Amino acid sequence: MSQKLKLSFKPYTIVLKHTFAISASVRDVTPSVQTELEYDGIVGYGEASLPPYLAETQESVIRFLSKINLSHFNAPFQIEEILNFIDSIEDGNNAAKASVDIALHDLVGKIRGIPLYNFFGLNEPENSFTSYSIGMDSDQMIDRKLDEVGDFKFLKVKLGSSRDKKIIEFIRSKTDLPLYVDVNQGWKDKYEALRMIEWLAGENALLIEQPLSKKQTDEIAWLTSNSPLPIIADESIQRSDEIEKIKDIYSGINIKLMKSTGLHEAFKMMKIAKKKGLKIMLGCMVETSCAVSAAAHLASLADWIDLDGPLLIINDNFKGLTYQNGAIKISDLPGIGVEKISNMI
Ligand code: MG
Repeated sequence: MSQKLKLSFKPYTIVLKHTFAISASVRDVTPSVQTELEYDGIVGYGEASLPPYLAETQESVIRFLSKINLSHFNAPFQIEEILNFIDSIEDGNNAAKASVDIALHDLVGKIRGIPLYNFFGLNEPENSFTSYSIGMDSDQMIDRKLDEVGDFKFLKVKLGSSRDKKIIEFIRSKTDLPLYVDVNQGWKDKYEALRMIEWLAGENALLIEQPLSKKQTDEIAWLTSNSPLPIIADESIQRSDEIEKIKDIYSGINIKLMKSTGLHEAFKMMKIAKKKGLKIMLGCMVETSCAVSAAAHLASLADWIDLDGPLLIINDNFKGLTYQNGAIKISDLPGIGVEKISNMI
């Protein structure tokens, strides 16, 4: 009987419920590649989500995954060795690497019969409330999205245009929910940014994500030291080796599996961030319940959670985490805790 690890993958187009607008782009779909890693009849699932503002594409992911030859690994249990080997094939390709990392963790969790939070020595997330995303939209569209918020306790609002104040005033005419504000590098001037942040602090915003371009490091450092709200790095940080250079510039970091190369590195980043006194947001891209369920296992280490990917899409082909009273709830299944809905197109 063959005991070898078998990696397979295929492209999948994630369709959004509403057109999603941020300061850099507008889109209706997000390309992805879904992976399976099989060992001894057990299958682990993974996913690479590929928002267009990042460098990877379905073609680049498939090209990278095609290069991975796991034939010298007889079993999935040497997770670190396997991931280091994959990492050494080529730089970059972070989402592609994440798709294998997630499938590998799912596989090992399933073989051992344990949920991943247990594998990482963590507690099951409890009262882990996630934010619900509102894109940069017309008042009419924001109104429709606010109708869908239900019992979520936090909103994540995308800003970075001349309509910023109008968007917040419109939201405030409808709800008092606390806000996470994500500017996606959309503001240009540190003084204007500070004035806006001071105003937002009075509107019950709790944090500001990536207010200025990642290239404006001196301006961001100034902003962080003067801001009444924590300033969080997203576009400025991908992997653990970058924490050192941003640790004095930002108050915290947004960790996402697609940036970090997966769970192994995301967990490492969380431990380093805690040691350095950085706040942690655990986020996601537009992803199915596969990758978002995987990330949810790390939620007990996060200060803020932004794991609403599956709520934004209409063709989720996995069943996994659920949302209860605005909090994420991990399923009772082992591994990342998902089932594939096989008849989904
Ligand atoms: Mg962001």
